[in-house]
Amino acid sequence: MTDGARFATAPGDAPREAATHCPYCALQCGMTLRVENGRTTVTARQFPTNRGGLCQKGWTAADLLDHPERLTTPLVRDRPGGELRPASWDEALNRIVSGVRAVQTGHGRDAVAVFGGGGLTNEKAYALGKFARVALRTRHIDYNGRFCMSSAAAAGMRAFGVDRGLPFPLADLGRADTLLLVGANPAETMPPLMRWVTEQRQRGGKLIVVDPRVTATARQADLHLQPLPGTDLAVASALLHIAVTEGWVDRAYVDARTTGFEAVRRSVAGWWPARAEALSGVPVADLEATARALGTAGRAIILTARGAEQHAKGVDTVSGFVNLALALGLPGRPGSGYGCLTGQGNGQGGREHGQKADQLPGYRRIDDPAARAHVARVWGVPAEDLPGPGVPAYRLLDSLGTDEGPKALLVFGSNPVVSAPRATRIEGRLRDLDLLVVVDFLLSETAALADVVLPTAQWAEEDGTMTNLEGRVLRRRALREPPAGVRTDLAILADLTHRLAAQGRAPSYRLMHRKGPLLTPEDRGGAADGADPRAVFEELRRASAGGTADYAGVTWARIDESDGVFWPCPDTDGPDTPRLFADRFPTPDGRARFHAVEHRPAAEEVCAAYPLHFTTGRVLAQYQSGTQTRRVPALRRAAPEAFVELHPDLADRLGVSDGEPVRVVSRRGEMVAPARLSPAIRPDTVFAPFHWGGAARANSVTNDAVDPVSGMPEFKICAVRVERVGES
Ligand code: SF4
Repeated sequence: MTDGARFATAPGDAPREAATHCPYCALQCGMTLRVENGRTTVTARQFPTNRGGLCQKGWTAADLLDHPERLTTPLVRDRPGGELRPASWDEALNRIVSGVRAVQTGHGRDAVAVFGGGGLTNEKAYALGKFARVALRTRHIDYNGRFCMSSAAAAGMRAFGVDRGLPFPLADLGRADTLLLVGANPAETMPPLMRWVTEQRQRGGKLIVVDPRVTATARQADLHLQPLPGTDLAVASALLHIAVTEGWVDRAYVDARTTGFEAVRRSVAGWWPARAEALSGVPVADLEATARALGTAGRAIILTARGAEQHAKGVDTVSGFVNLALALGLPGRPGSGYGCLTGQGNGQGGREHGQKADQLPGYRRIDDPAARAHVARVWGVPAEDLPGPGVPAYRLLDSLGTDEGPKALLVFGSNPVVSAPRATRIEGRLRDLDLLVVVDFLLSETAALADVVLPTAQWAEEDGTMTNLEGRVLRRRALREPPAGVRTDLAILADLTHRLAAQGRAPSYRLMHRKGPLLTPEDRGGAADGADPRAVFEELRRASAGGTADYAGVTWARIDESDGVFWPCPDTDGPDTPRLFADRFPTPDGRARFHAVEHRPAAEEVCAAYPLHFTTGRVLAQYQSGTQTRRVPALRRAAPEAFVELHPDLADRLGVSDGEPVRVVSRRGEMVAPARLSPAIRPDTVFAPFHWGGAARANSVTNDAVDPVSGMPEFKICAVRVERVGES
């Protein structure tokens, strides 16, 4: 096996292999990459999360490494409306530095913003946060994970004092007597996870799925609750109401390990099952059966995912299910608990080490004086020089180019033109910027708008760590060099910092440069310019020490010796933490906190002009904004285009036939795609996947209302009408 040394990939070289992980979702399936005769291939690897399984995306992940559309040279645009043209690295980087300098001189430091991604390694996410706070000294940094699991993160923090997607290993799913999945469709989004569900069911366990669509996961369930989109919280409240009424609340657990139950008990008293049925459409009998399956199980697990979370009341909805789990005494009990199925590959680690607007490494708060002092010490800068909190992703994107907002944006590993809600408006904001820089390895829709595009390395070409949905820190291992002309994100950040320092515009530029662009001198060792990921990880360990997400005891060597290391892990010779909450919760009094929450309507309700509910989601063969997977031939064949899923009764009413192009129109915009008729969806709801841009962009339609706590946009419900193309 290789370990990220220097490689050659020419035909005739001896074959090499690297044990690594899939570049896509948060399951981070183990795979072996092999290069032979210049060709790189993937095989599945036994690993505790995927147990030798991969989905279509994983099997084809190597197809992009030598893709003909891969970017291998920087691109610059000479004037607005002009074409992108190839440029040298010197020209492209100097253009960025002069643009940043002009914007900050004219409008202040916060006029430059940074937007990251949940696919970046821990090292890159950490370096990006430090670059923003120390080199640019801007408060404006956030990332696309805000659109993924931020509602579950906020609900977890306020209930448990910690946000780790699953507070237990995935293997626990196989032991649960009852497994409740809310707004989760792992059979399509992370198929190897279903091996645990199959094991659970083979042991006699019950699977219950809450989803407005009859998804591939719902089809395997013992019981499927099909609520109206946006009513999951009413379902949660009714389930807890039944548990209270039937005496299934674990009083001893509630008394010993929690606070705030009485207020929650009072808040669900009015949620008798018939009321929830009237609102959600879920029959009383199904609510009662679900509550009984949870309340009488020896071991029960409740999991939420984007279906429950991507709402303007996403935090409260998750809190509703957390309340239910706490009342039943599940969190911290073996084989039981509450968890969130994180989506993006490093959605978990990416939100722990500084990409979030309000956060410093180790899941520290940027407005906490002690946290600022600790991190500033590691970074070698005065704490008072660190900027304060920025704003969540959508607010940031929606302010770009306005009088109050940033005038320049640097994007790393994200494609908001496709993935942001109300995307037509966000696309306009990006066009209004004085400077848009995109760092990517393919020309995404966002990169196509940029003034400067920098080509970057892919997953198989650089070492690093990822943190999967279980909080397990993993090693991503390089197998090959980036193509000639391509640099890693860390090298780009280091070079930009160097050039900013050379300009000498701000004391922090000089200070950061003097201490090494990304590293303190003792960590820098032989690494060139802070581009060495192992050295960056060493600094991350120190920056995270003592924080909620403590990586101080995690080393690359330790990960290599095991199947990953679960945080928190404060000591190199101490244990890691596969299971949280066994004895106490990481809150000041050690108790979990109930939060009384109340159902409220969606931000936009249906009306005569927009009589249907619109919801969005994923398909098996595509991933996120599709920049990568739409370019993989096998995935394109499997899922070639967007579609609009309609119930046959609705299609009949509209006079729409299967395959006919239809227009979905909301107050914000429209999309056009072929109709796909399916009885799997409610007749009052239409669905479209969000992986495509252009006319088929589902996010042209979605609502930009956001959750007041997490900043999560309401991707999962808005009001629309559906028209046959040609009608108006
Ligand atoms: Fe990759 Fe996720 Fe598929 Fe596993 S389930 S192969 S991590 S995309």
